[in-house]
Amino acid sequence: ENVLTVEHIEKYYGNKGNVTKAVDDISFGVAKGEFIGIMGASGSGKTTLLNCISTIDSATAGHIFINGMDITRLNQKKLSRFRREQLGFIFQDFNLLDTLTAYENIALALSIIKTAPGEIDVRVRQVAKQLEIEDVLQKYPYQLSGGQKQRVASARAIVTNPSLILADEPTGALDSKSSRMLLESFETLNRNLDATILMVTHDAFTASYCHRILFIKDGKIFNEIVRGDNTRKQ
Ligand code: ADP
Ligand code: ADP
Repeated sequence: ENVLTVEHIEKYYGNKGNVTKAVDDISFGVAKGEFIGIMGASGSGKTTLLNCISTIDSATAGHIFINGMDITRLNQKKLSRFRREQLGFIFQDFNLLDTLTAYENIALALSIIKTAPGEIDVRVRQVAKQLEIEDVLQKYPYQLSGGQKQRVASARAIVTNPSLILADEPTGALDSKSSRMLLESFETLNRNLDATILMVTHDAFTASYCHRILFIKDGKIFNEIVRGDNTRKQ
């Protein structure tokens, strides 16, 4: 059973006579535990596709199943609940709350889905250990490096144990050393927690960490690469 199934997704912008086909009949599946990348030049439709999967935008046509649930059929109230419980988001610009510590940023994701208070501390510390941010939990975002902020943001995304983690250019604001550390964290989460990760990027080094890469051009998939376990870093 796939965690994610995208079936003939189309997304048009504009109206009569001035239509942009941002996503033009895209279909693919993602199995549990996969680390999949979507690559393409600027304007190729990556963000639009991701926004449809993340339920932030709605597709013009087609269906998207996450854990068997057709998200194109859910109403707004059910969607916002579905997002909080089933999806984890990682953005290029971190999206941490400045007035909260790293610990509080991560814990908030659990409070929102009504996790028992006694369990919150255990879960935050577990995930902080996985991402090697235990020593910065009491710091505020402005006290953290870019790499640390993105690992805190990743901890927040994973702490609810989501079915699917969606990362949009997660290394876009990071230097190469921090990028490598972050991507190694993703590998660890993928391997140790069997996390399913879908990552959009235009950066080849970042994409090289994925097990499979879909290449998008003019809103269509035009190529797919499946890599063996040791084709990277050679
Ligand atoms: P990418 O993320 O690969 O840069 P996008 O998904 O942002 O690509 O854009 C795909 C195409 O859809 C582009 O031609 C873009 O100009 C167009 N597009 C994206 N968002 C909108 C919008 N809100 N209104 C109109 N056109 C849009
Ligand atoms: P990382 O490799 O995780 O990005 P760095 O080696 O860049 O970390 O940073 C080392 C230390 O310097 C960190 O503990 C962090 O607290 C501090 N630091 C780095 N950059 C910044 C920054 N822009 N603002 C505040 N502190 C920073």
